[in-house]
Amino acid sequence: MNETVTQSTRRQWLATAAAGLAGSAVAGRAEIASAQAQPPSPLPLTEFEPKSMLHVPMTTVRGARFPVIDFHTHISRRRATRPPVPPAELLKTMDAVNLRTMVNLTGGLGEDLSATIAGFDRAFPRRFLSMTEPAWTRAAEAGYARWQADEIAKAKAAGAVGVKVLKTLGLYLRDGGPTGKLVSVDDPRFDPMWEACGRLGMPVAIHVGDPEAFFLPIDRFNERFEELNAHPDWSFHGKDFPSFKEILEARDRVFAKHPNTTFVGLHVGHWAENLQAVGETLDRFRNVHVEIGARIGELGRQPRTAAKFFDRYQDRILFGTDAIPLGVETPQQVFGEELYRIYYRFLETEDEHFDYAPAKRPPQGRWKIYGLGLRDGILRKVYNGNAQRVLGLKLI
Ligand SMILES: [Zn+2]
Repeated sequence: MNETVTQSTRRQWLATAAAGLAGSAVAGRAEIASAQAQPPSPLPLTEFEPKSMLHVPMTTVRGARFPVIDFHTHISRRRATRPPVPPAELLKTMDAVNLRTMVNLTGGLGEDLSATIAGFDRAFPRRFLSMTEPAWTRAAEAGYARWQADEIAKAKAAGAVGVKVLKTLGLYLRDGGPTGKLVSVDDPRFDPMWEACGRLGMPVAIHVGDPEAFFLPIDRFNERFEELNAHPDWSFHGKDFPSFKEILEARDRVFAKHPNTTFVGLHVGHWAENLQAVGETLDRFRNVHVEIGARIGELGRQPRTAAKFFDRYQDRILFGTDAIPLGVETPQQVFGEELYRIYYRFLETEDEHFDYAPAKRPPQGRWKIYGLGLRDGILRKVYNGNAQRVLGLKLI
C-alpha cells in the first residue's frame, strides 16, 4: 500500500513538472486532476505476477555437475486413473539433466510392487529403484504387526530397496473407521516393521507432518494462505489433529526406539522452516538423514542459514525433488528438465532472487530464493554419495 501511494504521488509531481515545462498552468491542473480521478484499482492477489527488475546473473545449469540420484520421486501409479509415463520417456529427461537414478518411493505392495519392479527397476537397472509401502488399511487387523514385518521381508526379496511412510501415519490413519481415533506415529504395532527395516538394511523414507503453516488458521497472517485457500483440505488446523510439535515428538520417539534402522526424513526432516531444530534432530539421532524434496522454497529463502546447514550436515543430506510425471496441481513437483534445472541452480550457483518452482506464481508462498553455490565436495555427497551409502548400493 505504501508503495502505491508513493508512486502515485511521484506521478503527480512528474505531471506537474511536465506541465510546467510546457508552460501551461491550465494543462498542468488538468493532468493532475485526471491522475487523481483514477485511483489505483485493487488487484486480486491471485492475479499479481510481478516481474523482477533486478539485473543480476541468471545461470542456466543444463545438467548437474555430478550424476544425480533423486531419492524422492513418485513415478509408478497404482490405483491410477492415468497410466504411468513409460520409463523410456522418463529416461530422455533424465539423460538431458544428468539424472542417473530415480528412487520411486510409492512402488506399492504385493502385485503392484512386483509389476513396478519388473517394468522399471529390472527393465532399466540402476536407473530406477522402488520402495514398498505398509498396508495401512490392515493396521486394525489382529496379527498385523508380525504380518507387516513379514511383508517388508517379502518386498525386499521382490526387489524393493526401502520402505516409504506417507503422512497417512499420524494425520489420516484412524482406528475404527473415519471417525475413529488417529493412530500415533509411534504406535507400538509398527515396531516389528521398523525393526525389520533395520535388520534387512532397508532405509525408511518417512514423511510425517507437513509445513508448519498447515497447522495454523487459514487467515491473512498465514504465509501459505493462497495455497491453503485453494486446498482447504490440506489444512491440519483444529479438529482432533495433533499439533505439529506433537507429531514430531512422536516421530522422534520412533527414531530413538529403533537406532539400528536408517530413517530419511523427507522434506528436510519435515521442518525446513526451522533448520536449527532439524540440526538438533540430526545431532541426537545418528540413524537419521534428511532429503530436500519440495522444500527448496524454504531452504532458498534463508540461504545463509541453509548454506551453513549443508556444510555442517553434508554427510546426512540427500537430493530429492518429490517429482511426479504428468500434470499435477503442485507445480513444484512436475517432473521435467525445468524442475531439475531449478534445483541445480539453487545448489550450484550464487544466483539471486529466482523462482523455486516452474510456475507463474510461487506455489508455496510468495517469495524468491537465492543459490547456495555449494562446493564440489558437498555437491557430490548430496547429489549421489549419501544416497548410495543409505541404500547400500553402488549406482555411480
Ligand atoms: Zn513425496
